[in-house]
Amino acid sequence: MKTLPSSALLTILITGLTTTAPAHEPVTRARTPILIPDVPGYVTLKCDFHIHTVFSDGLVWPSVRAEEAWREGLDAIAITDHLEYQPHKTDVSTNHDRSFPIARAAGSELDLLVVKGSEITRKMPPGHLNAIFLTNSTALAVERWQDAIATARDQGAFIFWNHPGWEPQITNGLVVWYPEHTELLTQGRLHGIEVVNDRSYYPEAHKWAIEKNLALLSNSDIHNPLNLDYHVHEDDHRPITLVFSKSRTLEELKAALFARRTAVYSGERLIGDEQFLRPIFLGSLEITPPHASLRPGQRQSAQIYNRSAITYQLERESAAPEVTYPERLTLPAGKTVLLPLTGKTGTTAGPRKLKLPFRVTNLLKAPNTPLSTSLEVEVNFADGKSGK
Ligand code: ZN
Repeated sequence: MKTLPSSALLTILITGLTTTAPAHEPVTRARTPILIPDVPGYVTLKCDFHIHTVFSDGLVWPSVRAEEAWREGLDAIAITDHLEYQPHKTDVSTNHDRSFPIARAAGSELDLLVVKGSEITRKMPPGHLNAIFLTNSTALAVERWQDAIATARDQGAFIFWNHPGWEPQITNGLVVWYPEHTELLTQGRLHGIEVVNDRSYYPEAHKWAIEKNLALLSNSDIHNPLNLDYHVHEDDHRPITLVFSKSRTLEELKAALFARRTAVYSGERLIGDEQFLRPIFLGSLEITPPHASLRPGQRQSAQIYNRSAITYQLERESAAPEVTYPERLTLPAGKTVLLPLTGKTGTTAGPRKLKLPFRVTNLLKAPNTPLSTSLEVEVNFADGKSGK
């Protein structure tokens, strides 16, 4: 009787062992890109500038913050532990300058930009303010908030107002802009405002950002491990500030913030100036015209591929003279959908570039003001008289 060589037997045994091994592989360190197009002249950086660690009231070690952000597809984060609130101080160092270098070292391995920040945590007014691009956080731990902010400015910091609509700091249900904020603004000590914090959108802050030329920001203010608050494996994401930067460097990131080149990406919403929203929207789409020519009363479909991570909701803004087209259209992220077009009678034969006006209801250029745009489709009209 023939016997298998012992090495073959070993192979069978190992194979057998492998196939009965547990179904779960070890977790690999993998990054999921956030697909949002660049805009002309700039790269679109995905950022979160409000993050806590165990060095204030967060529940996460700083290096883990870098890993979470890298895996989620972010380009830059700021570590912004509270200066005045350190509930773990009996267990963790109270050194205000310690969390940043730990996060930066982890970020450096991952090619993630990590920015040094602090949260100046005061009653209203002025409320909570983040100062980022600091060089020394400990120097900000002083009694008067005015002095903390002046010191931050001396260090060249970018300063923004956090969660203006945060329940414990609003007055009789109203979000209030105080004279103290006007003072900061006129002194050049207030450069941005959180229009979104965590899952809250503040229309008042959005309005002020436009009126007072403040950078629009959207940050997580995360304290928990990311996965406890956001279902990042199921089409959910933390709120993200999009920064339109000349390059992917800390210097250009900072310059872009001071130049107010930002937008908000929160849930399925994009909020910002139309100079950024329009190219992001149009740059997300690839439109294939109908393959056959269009006759009056007959339907042909264009195909629209949305290569971005954002699902767009469209509403027809006005009728087109040459075709009828749907009142509503959803362009799901990563999918191709049909745009049915029906030829109207009396249309002259020949090729035509149609501009179909739509508003994109989840892209806001101001509170309650969606972006108006149009989809361009090339259509060849057949001679109407030749019938079907
Ligand atoms: Zn905070």
